[in-house]
Amino acid sequence: MDLDLAQLEEIFISMGEAKFRAKQVFMWLHKGVGDFGEMRNLPKTLIEKLRNNFNIHLPQIVKFQESKIDGTRKYLFRLEDGNVIESVFMKYKFGNSICISSQVGCRMGCKFCASTIGGLRRNMTPAEMLGQVLMTEKDTGEKISHIVVMGTGEPFDNYENLSKFLKLVNSKDGLNIGMRNITVSTCGVVPMIENFSKDFPQVNLAISLHQVDDENRSKLMPINKVYPIGELIEACKKYTANTSRRITFEYTLVRGENDTIEHSRALGKLLKGMLCHVNLIPLNEVKETGLKTSNREAVLRFQEGLKSFGIPVTIRREMGDDIDGACGQLRLNGENMQNMK
Ligand code: SF4
Repeated sequence: MDLDLAQLEEIFISMGEAKFRAKQVFMWLHKGVGDFGEMRNLPKTLIEKLRNNFNIHLPQIVKFQESKIDGTRKYLFRLEDGNVIESVFMKYKFGNSICISSQVGCRMGCKFCASTIGGLRRNMTPAEMLGQVLMTEKDTGEKISHIVVMGTGEPFDNYENLSKFLKLVNSKDGLNIGMRNITVSTCGVVPMIENFSKDFPQVNLAISLHQVDDENRSKLMPINKVYPIGELIEACKKYTANTSRRITFEYTLVRGENDTIEHSRALGKLLKGMLCHVNLIPLNEVKETGLKTSNREAVLRFQEGLKSFGIPVTIRREMGDDIDGACGQLRLNGENMQNMK
């Protein structure tokens, strides 16, 4: 499932099989089929040959929670090696969206994030990223039209596998999800932004910003010590010039840390005139971090402050508010539930 169609065709030809069989198998795999025997248009001899030579590994559902308010589903999946990861399925007016993970754990060390507490365990393969989408479609019985790569992990820290995954989900013989329906979120790995703008000019880019000055951003997000705000904003301006696409800046509001009107004005000055949109996210509290969410008035005041600079700004709808807390929490709490279903 890591392979694109051309690579699969090569394998089939080297096995002495017809090229068109590779396409049939590719299409079944991208429907989330877990056993070669379910590939109904293959001859029995080929099914046996495939069974003897290959395995299909899809992530297995360890646990899920469903919101009674809006149908959001948070999944905890177990990968082939026993590691567990999270994905979130969300229903919107424009279609169904999934937020997937790109790494097991994360080494970026953002202070507000539960996913980084145990560090990075390993990169995820393209097949494991794809498997989250396939298993979620299978489990919900619903078609997914949008993908955000915003779960556990820094996607640009696993760029090669991310690239393969983006091409796989975009494949017309597979899920055929439009590049414009995909968003990749980075904490600010500056050199990769330019590569990304060249490789995937139609995929949306989101930047986790969360602070407006270097001193405080470095405290919250250690990546800022390597790529400070000035360099990040320059890279973003280049990105919009190259792609003509609007960037989304994600800004999580933390009480007393980054949510005052002064912060709002500073952010307004920083982004004024850019082709961008700001998404304000009231912090989803994680008890391990001790950080608190902003109150409603502070959020609205912050939004108004940004609007006065002519910057489009929205407050993220709180999805699945009645189920679990922040991204990474299900995994933290689920590490000891690997055999639960
Ligand atoms: S916010 Fe993203 S980049 Fe930062 S530690 Fe968490 S998963 Fe990693």
